[in-house]
Amino acid sequence: MSDNHGSLPLNGVSRRTAIAVVGGSALFIAAGRVAGRATDAAGRGTGHRSAMPAPGSTHKVEPVAHAVPGSEARLTVFPVTTTRAAVLASGITAPTAEVTTASGTSLATAQVHSGTALLTFAVPAGSAASYVLGNGQHRQNFTVSTTPADFNDSLWRVCNKAIALPSSYVPSGLTASTGHLMRAETASAYEAMADAARSAGITLGITSGYRSYADQASTFSSWSQTLGQQDAEHESAMAGHSEHQLGLAIDVQQASGVCTLNTCFGSTTAGEWVAANAHRFGFIVRYQPGRQNITGYDYEPWHVRYLGTELAADYQARGFHCLETYFGLPAAPDYI
Ligand SMILES: [Zn+2]
Repeated sequence: MSDNHGSLPLNGVSRRTAIAVVGGSALFIAAGRVAGRATDAAGRGTGHRSAMPAPGSTHKVEPVAHAVPGSEARLTVFPVTTTRAAVLASGITAPTAEVTTASGTSLATAQVHSGTALLTFAVPAGSAASYVLGNGQHRQNFTVSTTPADFNDSLWRVCNKAIALPSSYVPSGLTASTGHLMRAETASAYEAMADAARSAGITLGITSGYRSYADQASTFSSWSQTLGQQDAEHESAMAGHSEHQLGLAIDVQQASGVCTLNTCFGSTTAGEWVAANAHRFGFIVRYQPGRQNITGYDYEPWHVRYLGTELAADYQARGFHCLETYFGLPAAPDYI
């Protein structure tokens, strides 16, 4: 897991911070409240500008007028594309939450669902910037970095037919789990999921983990030679467009091998268990039936994408079936 949450006393007030760590370094620091005169009871900004925190450090925090002790949100923040980020704010008692620029311009508002809100908003490509999350009772600063390294290693980075990965991209910290490479977060989550499945009498296995750009290129090329490019696109992703290159996607199977990489896996006991439980371990079944017009992929009940337990739980709780829809991104049914 790369989402670390904790509490620490600061300025005599206990507060929570959320630090998203990617590739072993803290990229986004969600901490703090801006000065009391900069907020009103509705949490709207009145022009206060806060300083950018240095990477890896905590932010200067000052108490806020109208703040209700213990009501600050727990924030997890990642870019999802080069120009869009998402913040998951949880532990909120207010009915709505808002993201503003540091100078108070509103970027996004969202309803709070079971104490949690997901807000997505435009960010500048290739740089870091500071934002404010207001939940009606607190205002908290956080930063988002979309430098290429930070964006590509983002746990929430979207990779689809419209948004590719660079040919040179190899995820940080690849590790092996049951003989397949994947990011360390994916490996530990998969192992926890496999343990839980075993307790339910189901033996899961992996057919595919990390897939390099070169492997994608040769697989697509061989399908193209056999079927022609148009039909090959239904069988295999063009190089740079596979979530497997992120190290955050795995194809799972049951030990018997029945229905491996086949839609009938979704109707097996193992497939039904994965669909019902993957979110508990931070995964979503990425390509659901009836979403081909958005994802460009047929139903793949075996392909799970790691997003972290908090985001996957929110996605599941809100009944989403498509990551593009959840993040407010355009449909990507075709290569562009
Ligand atoms: Zn897959």
